[in-house]
Amino acid sequence: MLIDGKKISQKVRNSLKPKIEELKEKGITPGLAVIMIGDNPASQVYVRMKEKAFKKLGLKSKSYKLPADTSQGEVVQLIDELNNNDEFHGILLQLPVPDHLDEMELLEKIDPHKDSDGIHPVSLGKMVLGIEAPLPCTPHGILKLLEYSNIETEGQHAVVIGRSNIVGKPIMNLLGQKTDYGNATVTLCHSRTKNIKDITKQADILISAVGRPEMVTADYVKEGVVVIDVGVNRVDAPNTEKGYKLVGDVDFDAVEKKARAITPVPGGVGPMTISMLIYNTVFLADKYSA
Ligand code: NAP
Repeated sequence: MLIDGKKISQKVRNSLKPKIEELKEKGITPGLAVIMIGDNPASQVYVRMKEKAFKKLGLKSKSYKLPADTSQGEVVQLIDELNNNDEFHGILLQLPVPDHLDEMELLEKIDPHKDSDGIHPVSLGKMVLGIEAPLPCTPHGILKLLEYSNIETEGQHAVVIGRSNIVGKPIMNLLGQKTDYGNATVTLCHSRTKNIKDITKQADILISAVGRPEMVTADYVKEGVVVIDVGVNRVDAPNTEKGYKLVGDVDFDAVEKKARAITPVPGGVGPMTISMLIYNTVFLADKYSA
């Protein structure tokens, strides 16, 4: 089975429409402010996609594009202003930020009640404790992919490769929670893991968030595995118009033959991340609007 992230992401967006209508009837239009510093081309693409998705649902989205040499103080000042601007229920700092800026300090300056990305330390702390809070978008999207594909997590052995703060660590935690979408037994692998294939081959559900093109080959998995490929990697493709193509961490053609279900790249996890950003912004507008 191909896990179609585009279709499922549309279903998630559709499911939000009644709540959006309800809020609009109360005079509230959920709004997101996006801060983008510098001109990273990939970030520009992501920001445009986010704006388009928000507008399509009748939501407010505004981008604040700052030059690459903006100082820490200037970004903090903008975040403070947005924290106090009732038009915006969510604030997203587009990552990565230029090297001279302290990313963690900036993320912490965002009011946790406006944390659309779900990666503020307060949100992540609540997630670990099982307290309601916006969940980090990509891991939340993975849970929705599993849910909409009727893939049971309870009692399953989930193996996560990669331990980033935005994907690996939170998805490890969420799948291990005592909840409907959790109750899995989780193993976390990373670059220091020894004999990684021996571990990944035990996975009922394998989630890869590494950033290495087609690293996960057929000998990493057992028959019947469910594979969620988070990786987005550019590889040269001289015969294409762009000169490159996007591939995941998983060697799709080889692994697909053994998998019970698998996400493609593109069209798997990627579209879900934007849907969950919308989900969080609507959630925050509903919970914290004056
Ligand atoms: P990251 O911060 O880039 O970290 C990569 C992780 O992979 C690290 O934990 C690293 O281990 C581990 N790793 C590196 N080489 C490895 C190897 N040979 N074997 C096992 N583990 C290895 O991670 P990220 O930000 O989560 O990004 C990962 C990928 O997901 C990237 O391709 C990114 O573009 C993509 N991504 C996609 C979405 C989406 O919406 N589709 C969202 C976020 C990220 P150490 O900790 O030991 O260094």
